[in-house]
Amino acid sequence: MTQEELFKKLIAHCKEYGFIFPSSEIYDGLGAVYDYGQNGVELKNNIKRYWWDSMVKLNDNIVGIDAAIFMHPKTWEASGHVGAFNDPLIDNKDSKKRYRADVLVEDWMAKQEEKIAKEVEKARKRFKENFNEEQYLATSPRVLEIKSKMDAIHTRFTEALNSNDLAELRQIILDCEIVCPISGTRNWTDVRQFNLMFSTQMGSTADGANTVYLRPETAQGIFVNYLNVQKTGRMKLPFGIAQIGKAFRNEIVARQFIFRMREFEQMEMQFFVQPGTEMEWWSKWKDTRMAWHRALGFGDENYRFHDHDKLAHYANAATDVEFNFPFGFKEVEGIHSRTDFDLGRHQEYSGKKIQYFDPERGESYVPYVVETSIGVDRMFLQIMSAAYTEEKLDNGEERVVLRIPAALAPTKVAVMPLVKKDGLPEVARQIIDELKYDYNIAYDEKDSIGKRYRRQDAIGTPFCVTVDHQTLEDGTVTVRHRDTMLQERIKIEALRAMVDNEVSFRELFKKIKA
Ligand code: ATP
Repeated sequence: MTQEELFKKLIAHCKEYGFIFPSSEIYDGLGAVYDYGQNGVELKNNIKRYWWDSMVKLNDNIVGIDAAIFMHPKTWEASGHVGAFNDPLIDNKDSKKRYRADVLVEDWMAKQEEKIAKEVEKARKRFKENFNEEQYLATSPRVLEIKSKMDAIHTRFTEALNSNDLAELRQIILDCEIVCPISGTRNWTDVRQFNLMFSTQMGSTADGANTVYLRPETAQGIFVNYLNVQKTGRMKLPFGIAQIGKAFRNEIVARQFIFRMREFEQMEMQFFVQPGTEMEWWSKWKDTRMAWHRALGFGDENYRFHDHDKLAHYANAATDVEFNFPFGFKEVEGIHSRTDFDLGRHQEYSGKKIQYFDPERGESYVPYVVETSIGVDRMFLQIMSAAYTEEKLDNGEERVVLRIPAALAPTKVAVMPLVKKDGLPEVARQIIDELKYDYNIAYDEKDSIGKRYRRQDAIGTPFCVTVDHQTLEDGTVTVRHRDTMLQERIKIEALRAMVDNEVSFRELFKKIKA
């Protein structure tokens, strides 16, 4: 099975088993917007709990908040989102296809690099062992011609981007003779900026409505509350503020299922530190966050860091945690050193002093910030793609099993009477009544036991407990384990301790702290 086929199957599985549905599906859905179903919401809540507790419970210097989605519009001017959270767009009039203008130019430049590489290969063959690549690159008229054209375009391109000169950006596309890959023509519209923020109106028009934005990141809700939390919580540097909440981005190219959505959820933590200590904290948070991912047991080789080549205007260091998705290594989380940019800008735009008095240094300053920012939905996709397994069994049958870490599984135990009579359902109900205050439990009495096991495998339930006639005699039940499919008989009274041991977050947390 190719990775593409696997990904298609995963998407179908998510729908078939109540994890994820397209939004408003009866109206044919809405682009890059999804709803979480009965099993999806449980997994999502468990992911959030794993993150929240690892931040707020395990660290006595991290507290949480829950800020509103709407914020004063000046917030987004100060943060730079109104001016700079843009992508430059261009349409081809013949194919009616839309492109990112900067990506078209970047692709053109990559093609020139390829042309040079081809020239080098040709020359290598021609000159054999006498070939000197450095010398060739420095002297070949053909290479020098391509290079000088490229350098000129690169200079113009950087200037156009920095000065926001969209007409020049279009002229570069024309001068490079870039064609639309669909229509093959150069019939381009003007370039225009496309801001990724969604806006709406607050208040009635008669009152003079204000344009407000749906937040494109949760971080700003933390920055504007920095003083409130620091003062009321009497927090001392270094300390962190964590938040989980929705964010919205009007993404231009929305694909890859829940990898890139227009409405999504973020888990962000801003860690406020003394200026000058930020690199040390950045590297510490890199380690901690990587340990958090790896504790789930999906294989260390499936994670890597990818440092940013180009830093955002506010950052002095940035890396992504990438996971090996079915479509390759892609970003799940960003760990950024944001300097004092955000707090400094809010201080400037609000006119309020946003500073910390450091008793050790005997001075006041704007703290520096190290941020960890992860998407709940991307984390969800990471877990589903790592957990989804198709297995051939010894008896020739096949099963699909979701090997979700037990602590995160939507349902922890399924209790099943072997038959729907002889008092077995009643005993099953008693077991559920005993366990339901602590765990999500399912009851299933339909179909053969084998079919019932398969249903639970497909949603990742770690334990199936079967009540049979022997239960009535000696108070034991059969416990069947999801991953190994091994069965054991244990006393009903021992169930709770066994489940607790396997599904608790404790073991995961210990791995992060170690
Ligand atoms: P990308 O380069 O993939 O667009 P980004 O660098 O813009 O992501 P950040 O602004 O650093 O992303 O956001 C932090 C995290 O929020 C990302 O690591 C990702 O997990 C999540 N995220 C960002 N945009 C989306 C989206 N459109 N859909 C789902 N999750 C997202």
